[in-house]
Parts: sequence; structure tokens; C-alpha cells
Amino acid sequence: MELDDIDTVAVLGAGNMGHGIAEVASLAGYEVRLRDIKEEFVQSGYDDIVWSLEKLAEQDQISEEEADAAEERITPLVDMEEAVGSADVIIEAVPEKMDIKKDVYAEVEEYAPDHAIFATNTSSLSITELSEVSERPEQFCGMHFFNPPIRMQLVEVIYGEHTADETIEVVEALAEDFGKTPVRVRKDSPGFIVNRILVPLMNEACWIVSEDVATIEEVDSTTKYDMGLPMGAFELGDQVGNDITYHVLEYMHEVEGDAYEPAPLLEETVENEHLGKKTGKGFYDYEDGDGADIPTDQVREDVKERLLAAMAKEVAYLVGDDVAPPEDVDEATMLGAGFPDGPARICDDYGLETLADTLDDLHEETGSPRYDAHDYLYEAAEAGGFYGSEDEDEGPSFESIAFERRDIDVPEGHSEKQVAHIEIDRAHRMNTINIDILDELQDAVDIVEDDDTIRAVLVTGDGDQAFSAGADVQAMATSAEPLSAIDLSRKGQETFGKLEELSVPVVAGIDGYCYGGGMELSMCCDIRIATERSEFGQPELNLGLIPGWGGTQRLANIVGEGVAKEIILTADQDYTAEDMQDYGFVSEVVENDEIEEAALDMAEELAQGPPVAQKFTKRAMLKGRDDTEAGLEIEAQGFGHLIGTDDIMEGMTAFMGDGEPDFEGK
Ligand code: NAD
Repeated sequence: MELDDIDTVAVLGAGNMGHGIAEVASLAGYEVRLRDIKEEFVQSGYDDIVWSLEKLAEQDQISEEEADAAEERITPLVDMEEAVGSADVIIEAVPEKMDIKKDVYAEVEEYAPDHAIFATNTSSLSITELSEVSERPEQFCGMHFFNPPIRMQLVEVIYGEHTADETIEVVEALAEDFGKTPVRVRKDSPGFIVNRILVPLMNEACWIVSEDVATIEEVDSTTKYDMGLPMGAFELGDQVGNDITYHVLEYMHEVEGDAYEPAPLLEETVENEHLGKKTGKGFYDYEDGDGADIPTDQVREDVKERLLAAMAKEVAYLVGDDVAPPEDVDEATMLGAGFPDGPARICDDYGLETLADTLDDLHEETGSPRYDAHDYLYEAAEAGGFYGSEDEDEGPSFESIAFERRDIDVPEGHSEKQVAHIEIDRAHRMNTINIDILDELQDAVDIVEDDDTIRAVLVTGDGDQAFSAGADVQAMATSAEPLSAIDLSRKGQETFGKLEELSVPVVAGIDGYCYGGGMELSMCCDIRIATERSEFGQPELNLGLIPGWGGTQRLANIVGEGVAKEIILTADQDYTAEDMQDYGFVSEVVENDEIEEAALDMAEELAQGPPVAQKFTKRAMLKGRDDTEAGLEIEAQGFGHLIGTDDIMEGMTAFMGDGEPDFEGK
């Protein structure tokens, strides 16, 4: 089966996850059959979907018509035959109990078409075991959404022992079509990827407190303010639900042995029904206390090292046992748990050898199997890290942006030409710009400037939510070596300035939010193309700031001072793509799903233009902005220079005949 063969998706279970999955599938255009065991349950799930669709429409994330159409595509049902009888894919999200799931699969098999794929949303049960209950183990896999499915980008697509490659490929394609990012889990391993990282980390945090090594506040201060995780470990536990963590851990304990023995603190907390935010009390008290009030100054290096060592151990198991390569472990954890950086990368940056030693020391001190590491950890430590030692000579490596060269189709015999595609790769943070992105942008610009084959640049943001929602001010303020505010502004100005000065044409493909620092980035591109749903604004003044990365200067150059002042002084964030086209900021507004093609087409077209003439044009226009004389001088020099070049002959000849010119920049 291929993606095109899928029209109807059945979702079993209309609870927390089921209703969200049904909503996502329907928004992607699929016919959805949502099934629960009682009329009132399925109705309640359906009502939740309707409420959520209305919210999305209110927030202009979708139109009223899209909301209505999505609502209409969903049929709430109790009858199993009607639910699965014509389904191409069946996604199961019934309670996490083996017996319930087994009963459900037996009933499904009675009515489901032979070709239908069966995907389970289980968080902890074995995919292999579940698949063996069905009669179609090759057409069975895990499809693990995160809560809430409508907002969370990640879907872990998991192999069971019998799963066919084709099944995984189709389910990955389906997840992508749902607008999600699938990450492949190559083996049925407890906790898959994200929980395999988070749950043992949480357990180690509990052991540290159970052993009186540190307090809850110290552990959370360390995780949040030193390790840079989005929340304190205990704060996160309370958010997820301590029963859920405990449940996954128990399963790991059962399958993998005492290395996953739950810490006494975690056991007690669950026994006392302090399950977290949802019960009003967990490690913190949310009803009578202040909730997770985490001190910024109780950071402990020994705690950090112990938690990182525990994390390194899990990464090594995942990679060493071929469950996932380091890149996938990192991507899944960033998307599924909001880590600013992936665990493999974090461990490498800290020093994997040090962490391997820490594990050995802990093992020696305690004799606990919790610190038994996979052999692969030592191999990776010796090789310089999970990513190996990155050889300086290989040029810069990119983590926060993606840098890709795209060859463009040229007529036979013409010289090779490429478009460099720079994508801000932080979809989980709305592509907000931090120091790493600024550094990497500078590296990317250097590569482009030094390489004559690269004839144009395309700048985009990952995902479909944001081109870039602005500067990640918070991360920059709390980074290990924060810059002073004035230096931060200068650094952004300098980086964006380099992009603006590039000699080759730069196209911005804008889809989604384009705010603040993100909009200032787009101002340094030569041409902006945006989707209908994009929104623009300079919200800085709302925060008591001013645009600090060139916005006070460049915006006026593009839209005129009057409009620029309006945009900056009102700080409104609801300028549409159409408004911005009227102002001359955006050259072309395209349908939401056409941006990739339209922006790339534009970049490819420009890449075939005459490089020297383009360079002089850009330089003369930039220089002439505040000094027309200087601009005219460059124009004259450029004109003079070009007259003697091969490119001009090439251009003239092509103009007279009807072939395509092959400009070589000579
Ligand atoms: P839930 O209790 O909110 O929903 C389960 C629903 O299934 C209920 O409405 C129940 O009435 C219904 N149900 C029971 N028997 C059924 C049957 N025979 N046929 C159809 N429906 C039936 O649970 P949930 O949180 O949505 O979890 C569902 C699955 O998703 C579990 O396997 C869970 O591990 C997994 N999961 C949960 C989360 C999460 O954060 N809640 C995240 C990822 C995965």
C-alpha cells in the first residue's frame, strides 16, 4: 500500500489521545471514523474536537471553512464494523492495558479489510507482543503521538519484530502528511526513544534525592538553569504525571532488569497519589503551595554530571543496540520533550569520556546495575563522542540551521550551479533565533561567499508554523556566557549585515510567523515570498524593547519610513502576507502548500543570472542607500567592468538567438 491509497483512517478510543489524533487526521484531509465503546464517550471526544477546531479558527490558524470541513470528515461511532470496515489505516488509542488491547484487536480482525495497516499509540507496551495478537503482524507497527497530538510535532514510528519495511514507510508518509515529523524507532525497545531518555533521567533525579545527595530544589535548579532543559526534572515529572513515569519505568524494570529499579522517592510519591499537577500535588504542591518555584542559584556540578552520565548511558543503549542513530535520538528528544539540544549532542559537548568515567565511579561506589553501561558508550567515548570527533578541517558543522546545496538543472554542457538552502532548524521553538543560529548563519554565509558554484541562497524556517518567531531572548539571557544587551544587538546586526552583503541573490521563503528578529532576518534577503497564512510584525516595543537587529533601519528602506514607523510603533503582530505585499515587502503571496516550490523556483531562476552583474547591482544599491553618489560610482565601475567580460558576450549571444545563457561569472 502507498500513501495515495489511504482515504479512511479509523481511530479507536476517543479519549485524550484518540480525539487529538482524529483531529489531526481530519485536518490533513482524511475521512475519519472515531470509535469508542459508549455513545457518551465518543460524543465527548467529538465535542473536544469541535471545541479545538473552533479555537484554531478563532486564532486564525485555520479558516472557518477548514474547521467546518474537518468537523464533517469525522464520524463518531460505537459500532466496530462501521468503524473499521472500510478503513485503510487503523490507529488504536484505547487504554494502556494489554487485555483491553487484545480484545479490541480480536474484534477489529473480524471486520477490517485485509489491506488495512494497524498502528498502535501505546506508550510502553511491546509492539511485537501486540502485533502477535493481531492477525497481521507485518502490517502492524507503533505510531506514538505525543500529548497533545494537535500541537506536538513528533511521531515515533516503531518497528515490531515482524513489521514489514513497507508498513513503516507508509506510516511515516502518513505522519508527514498529518504535518508531523516522524522519527523511526528501528527496534521494539522499552520506552522507544523519548521515554527511554526521559524516564531513567527522572528516576536518577529521584535516586539523587532518595540518597540525600541533593534536594529536589537543587536538582531542578541544576536541570533547568545549568543543563538548560526546558523544566526542572521534578517539575517535568509533575507535568507528565508521576504515575505515567512510574508505569513506563516499571515496564523497563520488568524487561531490562534492576538497572531500572524505581527510586524510593518515586514509589512513595505514586503510592501517596501525589501524581503531579493533575492531582494538585506531586513533588511540588500546586494547591496549597507555590507549585514548582525553582531557585536559579542552587546549581550543583556533581548533580549535573550524574544526570548527564545517566543520560549518556541511555543514548549509548539506543545507538549501540541499533534502536536509533544519535541524530534521531536528538531529533526525537528535541521535538518530543522540548530539549534545546539533543541528549547525544549535550553529552558530547560535556565530554563523553568524562561521563563514561563518572558512570564507572558510580558503579564502583554503589555496585548498582543502574550504572552498567553498554560497550558502545566506551567505543563512542574513545572516538570522541556519539558524533565522533568533528574534524575541524571538514569545515563548520551545522546543528541549529540546516545547510544544504541543491544542484539545479542546467542545459547540457552548461557549468554546474547550485542554490544554497539555509533552513533555521528549530521548529520546536518556532525557529526563534539564538546565538548558535547567528554563529552558524555567519559560517553559512562564509561558505556561500567562498564558493563560486553557489549562485543563490534560499532562506526558510523548518516546519509550517514559523519562518522565525523572533529572537530567543530568554535563551540568550540565560546562556552560559550571556552577551551584554548591546553586544547582542551588535552581533545580530553584524550577522544579518553579512547576509545582506552577500554578492549572490538571497530569497526568503516565508511560511508562518515572521516576527521581530525573524522579520529582521527576512529584511536582509533580496526577495521575500510568503504563504497566505504568514503573519508579520515587530513586537519589540510591546516588550519595552526596540528592534535590535537592523529593524529600525532596513524596514524603512523596503516599505518607506511611514509604514515602517507604523509597524514598529504599533508593535502589531497581525500584518498579513497580503498587507505586506501591498507595502512592497513581500513580492509574491502563494498558497500555503506551494511555498517550497515557489521560493526554490525563484532562487533557481536567480541562480542562472549573471553573477558579476548581480554582485555589482546589489553592491551599488546597498551603497547608494544613504549615499547616492557612492552608489552611482559603483554602478559606473560595475558597468565599465562588465563590458569586458565573457558573461556579456554570453548574454548578448543568447539574447540574439534563443538559447539559455550559461553565465560563468567571468
Ligand atoms: P484515555 O483513557 O484518555 O482514552 C482511552 C479511550 O479508549 C477512552 O475513551 C475509553 O473509553 C476508550 N476505550 C476503551 N475500550 C475501548 C474499546 N474497546 N474500543 C474503543 N475505545 C475504547 O487514554 P489516553 O491517554 O488517550 O491513552 C490512550 C493510549 O495512548 C494508551 O495506549 C496510552 O499509553 C497512549 N498514549 C498516551 C499519552 C498521554 O499522554 N495520555 C501519550 C502517548 C500515548
